[in-house]
Amino acid sequence: MRTLLAALALSSLIACSQPPAAEAPAPAPAAAGPAENEIQEAALVQHVKTLSADDMEGRAPATPGGQRAADYLARQLESMGVEPAGDNGTYFQQVPIVEAVVDRAFTLSVPGRTYRYLDDVVAFSGTEQARAHVQGDVVFVGHGIVAPEQKWNDYAGANVRGKWVLIMVNDPPATAEEPDLFAGKALTYYGRWTYKFEEAARQGAAGAILIHTDESATYPWQVVQSSWSGTQYSLPPAQGAPALGVKAWMTNDAAVDLVRRGGQSLDKLRAAALLRGFKPVTLDVRAAATLQQRTSRKTSPNVIGVVRGSNEQQGVVFTSHYDHFGMRDAQPGDAPDADRIFNGAVDNASGVGGLLLIAQSMARASSRPAWSMYFVFTTAEESGLLGAEYFAQHPVIPMDRVAANINVDGINYLGPSRDIVLLGADRSSLGPMAQTLAQERNRVVGEDQYPERGYFFRSDHFPLAKAGVPALSISSPREFLGPNAEELRKKQEAYNTTHYHQPSDEYDPAWSFSGAVEDLKFLAQLAWRIAAEQEMPRYNEGDQFANARATP
Ligand SMILES: [Zn+2]
Repeated sequence: MRTLLAALALSSLIACSQPPAAEAPAPAPAAAGPAENEIQEAALVQHVKTLSADDMEGRAPATPGGQRAADYLARQLESMGVEPAGDNGTYFQQVPIVEAVVDRAFTLSVPGRTYRYLDDVVAFSGTEQARAHVQGDVVFVGHGIVAPEQKWNDYAGANVRGKWVLIMVNDPPATAEEPDLFAGKALTYYGRWTYKFEEAARQGAAGAILIHTDESATYPWQVVQSSWSGTQYSLPPAQGAPALGVKAWMTNDAAVDLVRRGGQSLDKLRAAALLRGFKPVTLDVRAAATLQQRTSRKTSPNVIGVVRGSNEQQGVVFTSHYDHFGMRDAQPGDAPDADRIFNGAVDNASGVGGLLLIAQSMARASSRPAWSMYFVFTTAEESGLLGAEYFAQHPVIPMDRVAANINVDGINYLGPSRDIVLLGADRSSLGPMAQTLAQERNRVVGEDQYPERGYFFRSDHFPLAKAGVPALSISSPREFLGPNAEELRKKQEAYNTTHYHQPSDEYDPAWSFSGAVEDLKFLAQLAWRIAAEQEMPRYNEGDQFANARATP
């Protein structure tokens, strides 16, 4: 220490003793950070137009149009100097996708009653087998939740191995004594149907039946029918991982009947399941189901690039899905020129274009970021977050070295806003970092407007969050700037009701990405700062994902 100080003193002495330099002082070195001026509206428009053009045919996974979009992304990354980070030195990480169609001859029966497919029950399988048969006791397990941080275990003391479990949807409501139980009125992941099936499989059940009610699901039975009776997409089950032979949804009426035949009252069981300390109840009835299905495999790539950091052992991962719904079949009564292409301009050519520019701003920064920056353009998001799920299972950098995930699914196409809405900001130390940056830029971090709808669980950041990675996903702003603010809010609503997931989600020259450009610069800068921290970000204590990984 002492020698260093002495050397510093000496060198400054030498500097002082030199005559003043004649030439102009060297320009100050550029501040470290992403090259934000690479993020320009004109380039963004170009990407969005290209990716949402008709010749991309709606970018469905494993179609020529989907592959064209993936090739475009790889070429763009290469031209910016972003390195490939996919399989075997390419930009592509190939994702296997299982397509399954369940035969309508499916039956689920108990002595004295057969529940009818579609009218009473719908089902699919967690396996790829052509035929799944499940027969056994039926155990009512309340909400089907095991949540140690809430001191809640709906499977307490039960052995459901090889049996059916009958499960309520949603999470238990808060009580007067515990207003924050399961995050109050916000939906936690424990309330999502995907969680229920995952937990039932972990518990060793052979089959699981979710009880549908319109109020608890927030949508009617017809939505369950139509969502689960067509072609279903999934990842192949991981080797050795538990899988359910039959995953079923049942109407409330059918469930009431099933429980009655098992010698119990569903109303009474439900009431008991609202209380901590509820114990699973084995019904006095056995159920049997046979499911036959046609399955096939397809492959579609995630496109992955990396800008290497000075420390390559840790990284920040950006995600943005490039897939959309492809083209719909012609229907009787269609006009000859009916638009059948799901262009997906907002959803999500816009986010993908935005992420390309963030990648460019990192690749052209005057110095390296402290940690590596990964850009993952996912496939099959619309089929159930499959590309992101696959990436989380097969990460190109160990998941416990991923400091954070920033997801871009749709950007602002209406004009400048004061707020930047970041889903998940209230869950982790990323929130305060974003707030500091927002303050510097005269902006605010907006909140999730609809926590009860569970949007945090519905895009590509979620599989990473589930693996313990603190995550943020940008969402629609609420506070537009300027005299047209109210009109812009209305336009935003109109998109949601008219164009969302429709062939009419097309690029419109009237759009303005001036607000999005500011948001993208913000996200690039935020990632840069996350990487410059000494410590990895963390979930807040008590958050559902806080213990998913041992934070180093
Ligand atoms: Zn989307």
